[in-house]
Parts: sequence; structure tokens; C-alpha cells
Amino acid sequence: MLIVTRRRLLLALAFVVCVAVGMGFVLGRRTEQGLKQPLAHESEEAAGKTVTDEPHEAKRVADDIDTKRVATPDPLRDQRAPDLIPADKAVPDEAVPDEALIDEPVAEMIAIVPKVKMPIFYVETKEPAVALTFDISWGQQQVLGVLQILREKNVKSTFFLSGPWAKRYPHLVQEISGAGHEIGSHGDAHVDLSRYSRDEVAENISTAHQDLLDSAGRVAPYFRPPNGDYDDVVVDTARSLGYETVIWAVDSLDWKNPGVDFMVDRVLGRTFAGAIVLMHASDSSQQIQDALPLIIDGLRDKGFRLVSLSELTRLGTPARRDPR
Ligand SMILES: [Zn+2]
Repeated sequence: MLIVTRRRLLLALAFVVCVAVGMGFVLGRRTEQGLKQPLAHESEEAAGKTVTDEPHEAKRVADDIDTKRVATPDPLRDQRAPDLIPADKAVPDEAVPDEALIDEPVAEMIAIVPKVKMPIFYVETKEPAVALTFDISWGQQQVLGVLQILREKNVKSTFFLSGPWAKRYPHLVQEISGAGHEIGSHGDAHVDLSRYSRDEVAENISTAHQDLLDSAGRVAPYFRPPNGDYDDVVVDTARSLGYETVIWAVDSLDWKNPGVDFMVDRVLGRTFAGAIVLMHASDSSQQIQDALPLIIDGLRDKGFRLVSLSELTRLGTPARRDPR
């Protein structure tokens, strides 16, 4: 009995020793591994983890900032092709004020910069070409006169037509496209779209798209928001519906009827290679027919070629930086 007990005791002791040695070995390995854990800059894998985790978090925060103005969550938000805009162009310099960056940790710096979706303002090109663009949302008094001048001067331009106008004057839409001009969208209701939800913005653009298709047969993939009013949601939504948002680099201010000389001086003084020029062929632009021939001649005297927007974009890179 005693022998058996001693044997058992020995066996138990041996077992305990084995377990202890085993555990010591495992613990030792762990400690060793822990000590051998490479510093971030020594291991690509570790460095990769360090770098990618934070921006993902920051991106989520940025998305949250971004979605504040949208009532409904947008399932397409993260599916949009980022390659439409090179990363260096998607966030223009002016969106990142230097003062905000000073002494800020990197992660926070990324988090406080909202995701910026910029429209096109001009085209970066060395070619001396510019695009005259005409918005129309109201009336029929000016458009035929403008078309006549463009025909006489042999200029092809881009017209941004509002859906309701196109629906009301399909014969004028036909005149515009029949003359070889390009037709883009000026939206449906002429309102500041940045004040509306994503769904409402989408509805505005889609409604106009259908009206323009019905009257013109085809629409160039350019959307000029009413009043040139845009924000990330407007640019994003337009893009999800196949449109690039296009503002302008030079406003003729024709809609203010400031006088022919004023308009001519202003456009000639401000236009540069690749510029997109804003004018109107709406009835509100009462001096456009007097100013337009002088503007066309003046620009040509300066060596500029006058082309449609799509031709201009073929001559360079669309610039998403507001030069105004
Ligand atoms: Zn307008």
C-alpha cells in the first residue's frame, strides 16, 4: 500500500515536473517571440498594418462628417470608382488650410478633412483653346440670335439646358443640337442643390436627363448645377448618374446685364488656355447678342481656339481647382 502510494507520488511528481518544464518552454518561446517582435519600420508586414489601420478609421470618420448633410444613408457612397479622379486632384490644396495642419497628429489631420469631390472648372492644357458655354433655363428671345452668331463665326460650343426648358421648347433644342453644338444638363428645378438631400438631387438630375434625352436625343455627360451651386453630395450624385459636374473659370456676368464693354473686357481679361467661360442664352441675358461677336473676335485675336467642352477636355486634364 505504502509502495503503491510512493509510486503514485513519484509518478505524480514526474508528471508535475514534465508539465512545469513544458510550460516553461512555451513561456520561454513566447517571451523570446515577444522580444523578437520587429519594430514597425523593420517589417513590411507590421509597417503595413500600422499604416493601413489608421487611415481606414480616419476614412470612416471622414465619411461620417460627409454624411451629416444627407438624410438617408447612401449604399453607393463607397462603391464609386475613385479612379475617375486621381487622388491628388480629388482633394485640392485649398481644401487643406495650412493652419489646420500645424501640430495636428496625422490621424486627426485626416479625420478633420472632409472628403471633397470637386467639379471641373477648366482644363489644364498648353493648347490655346477655350470653351464658351451657354446656360439656358428661361425664355426663347435670345437663343436663336446666339445660335446665329455662333453659326456666322463658325464656333461650336456647349449648351447646358434645364430639363423644363428643353421640354417646353423641343424645337429650340433641335436647333441647338442640329447646329452641331453639344448639350449638357442644367438640371430640373433651378434651385441651389446643396440645400437638398441626396435623393432629391438625384431626382432633379434624373428628371432633367429624361427630358433632355426626349428632346435632344443625346446628352453630353456634363452637368452644370443651377446657380453653379454644388457640394460633395451634388458632385457625387451627378457622377453616380453618369455626369461630371462642370462649373466655370470665367463668368461673363452677362446675367447681370453689366454693359457690353464690361462683359467683353472681363472675358478677354480673364480667359486663359483651357478656360471654361460662362454665358447664358436665357432671356435674362439681354446684352449677350451685342457682346458675343466682340468676345469671339477678341478671343481669336488673342490666339484662342473656341471649342466645345468635350473637345477641350481632350486637349488636357480636367482641373478640379477653383481658379476664381
Ligand atoms: Zn442657370
